[in-house]
Amino acid sequence: MKGFAMKRIGEVGWVEKDAPKCGPLDAICRPIALAPCTSDIHTVYEGALGEREDMILGHEAVGEIVEVGELVNDFKVGDKVLVPAITPDWGALESQRGFAMHSGGMLSGWKFSNFKDGVFGELFHVNEADANLALLPEGMDPATGTMLSDMVPTGFHGAEMAEVTYGEDVLVVGIGPVGLMAVAGSALKGAARILAVGTRPNCIEVAKEYGATDIISYKEGPIEEQVMSLTRGKGVDKVILAGGGLETFKTGVKVIKPGGIISNINYLGSGENIEIPRVEWGVGMGHIKIVGGLMPAGRMRTERLANLIMAGRLDPSKLLTHRFEGMESLDKALDLMHRKPVDLIKPVITIKY
Ligand code: NDP
Ligand code: ZN
Repeated sequence: MKGFAMKRIGEVGWVEKDAPKCGPLDAICRPIALAPCTSDIHTVYEGALGEREDMILGHEAVGEIVEVGELVNDFKVGDKVLVPAITPDWGALESQRGFAMHSGGMLSGWKFSNFKDGVFGELFHVNEADANLALLPEGMDPATGTMLSDMVPTGFHGAEMAEVTYGEDVLVVGIGPVGLMAVAGSALKGAARILAVGTRPNCIEVAKEYGATDIISYKEGPIEEQVMSLTRGKGVDKVILAGGGLETFKTGVKVIKPGGIISNINYLGSGENIEIPRVEWGVGMGHIKIVGGLMPAGRMRTERLANLIMAGRLDPSKLLTHRFEGMESLDKALDLMHRKPVDLIKPVITIKY
């Protein structure tokens, strides 16, 4: 079969591979909708995970099942399924501890386009199908469904880790598709003001639709000064980091109130150490928490997030600015993700058979 792969750091292209094999608990799918991710860009062009040779890329997909293992109970050939980017081993000790995304070791629940071939192939393999897949709800556009692989669960996890609650003021740094879902998640969890940092006009417009109350440009002076001026020197209750670099942690500590939480969902693709400003961190006694996390996955969570869309409470299709048809468009879509033209939020590809 054919797949669109990372050939080595800095180079992508089509490769030929053997079709994946189905274990007793697993499923083999063919893609019906795919989306590239900024994480694919960190992986290929920054070499953020280290060298990978001819690894098929991609971890955002809606698929159709073409084969199931003999121990799979709840899915059958022909089912259309939501495929989470993270597909843990649910029996691992890390999973029993509540951190299935790290099943088997740090970040090891992230298998697609990391430890094994991703979803940008004519076929792809899903481990533990009963626990990891969810049915595509009747009536949901598969293109919208791809946003349930990663963008919705990651952005919402930003709001979860920040423990956003009613009436709080939240700063969301970065309003690409991930940050936009953090804005939407914070709004659903009851945030009062949501200050959102970004400059692309499409992203700003959509951020407002998802609940951002104030927009900050990191190009017009330090973020912390703008936050302090907008909040009359008080700062914010919570910070979600979904863009920018290592320096955003410093910004977060400078604007957060005592007892606040800084929640990072950004993939820190380069740099060494993160600096924490000593004084603003309450000289070590400010009860300011800093937490970062890979998205949680699993069938139940994916079904719940899908319920929000079906109930009309969340519309991630606003993220889909560029639509393509056919797998052969994968290189164009990934290139868009690399270049990030000003009108881009997220490209998506649908595939007909
Ligand atoms: P985008 O590149 O689309 O968005 C990044 C955002 O950050 C933009 O709004 C951009 O503003 C803003 N930004 C850029 N530079 C700065 C700066 N110096 N200070 C403040 N803001 C800045 O990325 P995505 O939304 O696609 O992804 C965000 C991150 O999340 C990526 O690192 C991605 O790899 C990661 N990720 C993490 C996952 C997880 O499980 N934790 C899963 C999926 C992705 P502008 O409007 O000017 O472009
Ligand atoms: Zn992704």
